[in-house]
Amino acid sequence: MNGQGLPQGSQQDQGQQARGRAAQFAKLRASELFCPTCRQAMPVRERLLLLLLDGEIHEFLCMRCNSSLGTRRVSNTQPVQLLTRF
Ligand SMILES: [Zn+2]
Repeated sequence: MNGQGLPQGSQQDQGQQARGRAAQFAKLRASELFCPTCRQAMPVRERLLLLLLDGEIHEFLCMRCNSSLGTRRVSNTQPVQLLTRF
Protein backbone atom coordinates (compact mmCIF):
# COMPACT_ATOMS: atom_id res chain seq x y z
CA MET A 1 0.00 0.00 0.00
CA ASN A 2 2.82 2.35 -0.72
CA GLY A 3 2.81 3.03 -4.43
CA GLN A 4 0.36 5.89 -4.66
CA GLY A 5 0.54 9.56 -3.87
CA LEU A 6 3.62 11.60 -3.33
CA PRO A 7 6.48 10.28 -1.29
CA GLN A 8 6.49 11.84 2.11
CA GLY A 9 10.03 13.04 1.75
CA SER A 10 9.34 15.28 -1.23
CA GLN A 11 6.25 16.72 0.40
CA GLN A 12 8.28 17.82 3.35
CA ASP A 13 10.89 19.39 1.14
CA GLN A 14 8.32 21.37 -0.76
CA GLY A 15 6.83 22.63 2.46
CA GLN A 16 10.16 23.84 3.70
CA GLN A 17 11.00 25.53 0.42
CA ALA A 18 7.67 27.31 0.30
CA ARG A 19 8.16 28.63 3.78
CA GLY A 20 11.67 29.79 3.02
CA ARG A 21 10.60 31.55 -0.16
CA ALA A 22 7.71 33.24 1.57
CA ALA A 23 10.05 34.62 4.18
CA GLN A 24 12.46 35.86 1.51
CA PHE A 25 9.62 37.42 -0.41
CA ALA A 26 8.36 39.28 2.61
CA LYS A 27 11.84 40.61 3.17
CA LEU A 28 12.21 41.57 -0.46
CA ARG A 29 8.97 43.49 -0.54
CA ALA A 30 10.23 45.91 2.02
CA SER A 31 13.11 47.16 -0.08
CA GLU A 32 12.45 46.19 -3.70
CA LEU A 33 9.42 46.26 -5.95
CA PHE A 34 8.92 45.43 -9.56
CA CYS A 35 9.06 48.60 -11.61
CA PRO A 36 7.22 48.49 -14.95
CA THR A 37 9.31 51.35 -16.27
CA CYS A 38 12.65 49.77 -15.42
CA ARG A 39 11.20 46.31 -16.11
CA GLN A 40 12.85 44.79 -13.11
CA ALA A 41 12.70 44.74 -9.37
CA MET A 42 14.14 48.00 -8.18
CA PRO A 43 15.09 49.33 -4.81
CA VAL A 44 12.47 51.69 -3.57
CA ARG A 45 12.29 54.49 -1.14
CA GLU A 46 9.32 55.01 1.03
CA ARG A 47 7.74 58.34 1.66
CA LEU A 48 4.77 59.48 3.61
CA LEU A 49 1.90 60.08 1.25
CA LEU A 50 -1.07 60.66 3.47
CA LEU A 51 -1.83 61.02 7.12
CA LEU A 52 -4.99 59.36 8.33
CA LEU A 53 -6.76 59.48 11.61
CA ASP A 54 -5.87 55.90 12.35
CA GLY A 55 -2.70 55.48 10.39
CA GLU A 56 -0.59 56.57 7.46
CA ILE A 57 -0.30 55.76 3.79
CA HIS A 58 3.22 55.38 2.55
CA GLU A 59 4.19 55.44 -1.09
CA PHE A 60 6.99 53.45 -2.66
CA LEU A 61 9.02 55.23 -5.31
CA CYS A 62 11.50 53.63 -7.67
CA MET A 63 14.95 54.88 -6.85
CA ARG A 64 15.95 55.06 -10.48
CA CYS A 65 12.97 56.58 -12.29
CA ASN A 66 10.92 57.83 -9.38
CA SER A 67 7.79 56.01 -10.52
CA SER A 68 5.23 55.29 -7.89
CA LEU A 69 5.30 51.53 -7.44
CA GLY A 70 2.66 51.17 -4.81
CA THR A 71 1.34 52.27 -1.51
CA ARG A 72 1.24 50.74 1.87
CA ARG A 73 -1.14 51.50 4.64
CA VAL A 74 0.33 51.62 8.07
CA SER A 75 -2.17 51.37 10.85
CA ASN A 76 -1.58 52.88 14.17
CA THR A 77 -2.09 49.96 16.42
CA GLN A 78 -2.29 51.92 19.58
CA PRO A 79 -4.97 50.62 21.87
CA VAL A 80 -8.00 52.82 21.73
CA GLN A 81 -8.89 53.93 25.18
CA LEU A 82 -11.47 56.57 24.46
CA LEU A 83 -14.35 54.46 25.61
CA THR A 84 -13.17 53.86 29.09
CA ARG A 85 -15.99 52.97 31.41
CA PHE A 86 -15.98 53.82 35.04
ZN1 LIG B 1 11.94 52.44 -12.19
